[in-house]
Order: sequence, then structure tokens, then C-alpha cells
Amino acid sequence: MAVAPERTRLTWDYSPAPESADHVRLRDAYGVFVGGEFADPRSGKSAPTVNPATEAKIAKVAIAGEEDVAHAVKVAREAQRKWAALPALERGKYLFRIARLMQERARELAIVETMDGGKPIRESRDIDIPLAAAHFFHYAGWADKIGYGIAGREHRPHGVVAQIVPWNFPLLMAAWKLAPALACGNAAILKPADTTPLTALLLAEICQEAELPPGVVSILPGNGATGAALVRAEGIDKVAFTGSTAVGKDIQAALAGRDVGLTLELGGKSANIVFEDASIDQAVEGIVQGIFFNQGHVCCAGSRLLVQESVAEQVEAKLWERMQKLRLGDPLDKNTDVGAVNSGEQLTRIETLVAAGEDEGATRRTIACDIPERGHWFAPTLFTEVSPVHRIAVEEIFGPVVSMLTFRTQAEAIEKANNSKYGLAAGIWTDKGGKAFEVAAQLKAGVVWQNTYNHFDPTAAFGGYKESGFGREGGAAGLRPYVRVS
Ligand code: NDP
Repeated sequence: MAVAPERTRLTWDYSPAPESADHVRLRDAYGVFVGGEFADPRSGKSAPTVNPATEAKIAKVAIAGEEDVAHAVKVAREAQRKWAALPALERGKYLFRIARLMQERARELAIVETMDGGKPIRESRDIDIPLAAAHFFHYAGWADKIGYGIAGREHRPHGVVAQIVPWNFPLLMAAWKLAPALACGNAAILKPADTTPLTALLLAEICQEAELPPGVVSILPGNGATGAALVRAEGIDKVAFTGSTAVGKDIQAALAGRDVGLTLELGGKSANIVFEDASIDQAVEGIVQGIFFNQGHVCCAGSRLLVQESVAEQVEAKLWERMQKLRLGDPLDKNTDVGAVNSGEQLTRIETLVAAGEDEGATRRTIACDIPERGHWFAPTLFTEVSPVHRIAVEEIFGPVVSMLTFRTQAEAIEKANNSKYGLAAGIWTDKGGKAFEVAAQLKAGVVWQNTYNHFDPTAAFGGYKESGFGREGGAAGLRPYVRVS
């Protein structure tokens, strides 16, 4: 009788698959981009932008000051009149051109996004850059159809719009803001975050290549003071901001009493709700995608995991098993799931809140993995035994940390999900379509995903309730903030 051969367990490891950055040609220094040209900042100030995975300096970048802001506003004002006077179809053509150039330079943009921000190349290559181009394509199509997007009302552009974006999706946030603003006939002044200015500066080069009329887009790299000067500048007609709730409140106060339009896209503590009738394996993938995507540096991250008690043990076990398979490391490696934390400052914020979670009595589990010697890193972490009053259940951690809570009934799930000062997004995992719609209708969240999470599309509106801000970006709804209607 033949004896079955003994089966040996093979452990396969990944070989490194780093994306080469050899063909990326960055300048040693970047100035401000105003009037279609790069120039030294009038402030005379600059600072290096640093790769958070290696702490290596990448390039020296200008820090725009008040004089740069005033100059950019003046130039944008002149350019805007001519831009708005162009036939809308022509404006659309420029946006199509920008979108196509972004696609042509997609590989370079993805690498630079990953080097400057720390996110895995898989994400910048497959999500950030294609979605950024898709937003330009989408709003290019809207340029001559704006009336249809705002219920046929009379409309005109605001004029000069100031746009401030954060460091978690640098190019994508720039596209979310610039594309609708330009389609509607505004001139825009964009301030990227100080830790991730590079792709916005490459986008400035793309605007040059597209022969966008000078002054229609200005890029003012800088720090918080640059942003503060921009929102307070005379001659600004509208401000669009994405970032922390604290700065959003400061901007709202600064604009009080001024006839300046404002949209705010702020923080979140979004609930990802798993019902007992959900496909558990699918839900676990969604939980992972919801919180570990982009190291959890996502305003709509599913950071509050609510699981029905009857399946809590199963979900917890499967989630923990899945988490241990996540690969943390070199963001330029195509196998990497979790890249570098964007800055030392952000790492300190994450560590502080995680320490608070432990102090308050929640149970912490962090996956064991090799942490690179240089750079800023935080390994995927799961908190259980979390009470709704714990800081880790209330405050935005903005890192790869998920807090798991349980519920017994649908009503309790809704109450717990809405028990937050934020209202940006939510996820619902259930096999019952009717239940998903019933729950979604009762959630105070701007976006509700069903059996998926962190799914973005240029045709869909995105924005929040409560302290997550107001105004919508994306789709037809994203046109409204960029026009005055009468
Ligand atoms: P900020 O809100 O400070 O930064 C967002 C943008 O605003 C950046 O471009 C920043 O410039 C600029 N800015 C900073 N201060 C001012 C000001 N007074 N007036 C105008 N613009 C300003 O966020 P942080 O980077 O400090 O992150 C802090 C926390 O905010 C995170 O831990 C996270 O919880 C949350 N956050 C939420 C985001 C979201 O998408 N909802 C995005 C980013 C952060 P600069 O970068 O140069 O300082």
C-alpha cells in the first residue's frame, strides 16, 4: 500500500519589490507658483521637505508669507476675469488636458507622493493618482453644464478662491478642490501642507504644460501661518479647507462677518457597524481597509468598530489574524500594506492617544513586526474592552488604530454610532439590504457605505455633519460651493 507523503508546511515570504525612483527628476528647490511661473518667495523663507520613511531631505521648498499671499491674490483677480469670460467648453478643455497630463505623469506622481508622504506605493499608484485625474476628467465634463448641476439657477463664479489642503491625500485633495473651482470659472490659490508640498508643485508644472492661462492656479507652499494669512487676505471670495476641526473653527471665526464663502471638511470618528448577519470574512476585509488604509490618516477612517455581540468574538479573532498578515515597511515596496506615519508630530499624537487608551483600561494588541530603524512608524493596533467614554472611542487618532465596541440591538448600534461630535462617514455590514437602508437613514453621517468602506468616486458627494464640517465635494453637489446663485 502506498504511503501518503508527509506534508511539510511551507512558509513563503515576500521578496522586496521596490518601485524605482530613478527616473523621478525633482528640482533641488521649489519656489512659489504665481502667474504661471515659479519664483523665489517674497518672504525669503524656505524649509526642506523630508521623506518620513527615511528622514532624508528631498527638496527645499518655499514658505510663502503675507506678501506672497497678497501678490497671488492680485494676480489671481486679474486672471479670473478672463478665465470666467472664456466659453465654458474651452475651460473644460483645459481641465481635460490637465487630467490627461496627470495620467501621463502618473508613475512619477505616485512615487513622489509616496516619498513625500509615506503612504504605500500601491495606494498612491492605484488610488490617489488615478482618482485625482478622474476628478479633473469629471469636472471637465461639468464645465459647460453647471446650470444642470445646480437645478438650472442663474450662477456666477465666486472669483478668487483660497484652498487649504492637508497631508494625508496631497494631490487628491488638491484635485478635489481645484477641478470644481476652475470648472466654475474661479481662479484658485492652493496651499499644500508643509510636510507634503511636492505633488502640488508638480501639478503646477502640469498647469504650465497644459498652457493654463497664467494666474488661474497659484500654488503657495508654506506652513500654518501661510494658511492663516491666506484666509485673512483681502480680496479672497471663498475659502475651502480640509484639515483638523480646531483649525476649521479658527478659519470660521476669522471669516465671521465677511462676505466670503466657506466650506470645511474636518475630522471624524466614523463608525463601522458589523451586524451578525454580515458576511464576516468580507466585513473583516472592510474593517482592515477602513482603518489601515493610508496608515489610518484618513478623515473618514472606520476608527470606531461597532460589532454585534453575537459575532464579536468571531470578528475579533478573524480581524486579529488578518491584521498579523499586514506588511509594514518601505512605502516604495509594492508589497507594503502599511507605510510610514506622515511626521514625527503625528506619531506623537498617535502614541499619546494609544497611551490614554491603555491608561483608561482598554486592552491593546499591536502586531509584532520589524520596525525600520529610521523614519516614523506605528504598527497596526486593535483595542478591545473599549468603553464609549474612552478617549480612543471619542477622539480622532488619525493613525492605524481601531477601537472595537459591541452592541446588542440595531437601535443600540445607531445610538452608539451617532454618539459622536463628528458625522463624516459610516459603514454598515449586513446581508439585508432593507436593514442597511433603514440604519443608513438614521445615521448622522455624510457618507454611508454598505458592505464596503473607503470607496471614493468623483461622481459621489463627500462631506460631513456636526464638527466634521459643512459643504460637499465631488459630483454635482461639489459645484454648488464654487458658484454664487441668484
Ligand atoms: P491642520 O488642520 O493643522 O492642517 C491642515 C492644513 O491647514 C495644512 O495645510 C496646514 O498647514 C493648514 N493650517 C494649519 N494651521 C492653519 C491656520 N491657522 N489657518 C489656516 N490654515 C492652517 O492639521 P494637522 O496637520 O495639524 O493635523 C492635526 C490633526 O488634524 C490630525 O492629527 C488629524 O486628527 C486631523 N486632520 C484631519 C484631516 C482631515 O482630512 N479631516 C487632515 C489632516 C489632519 P501646515 O501643514 O503647513 O501646518
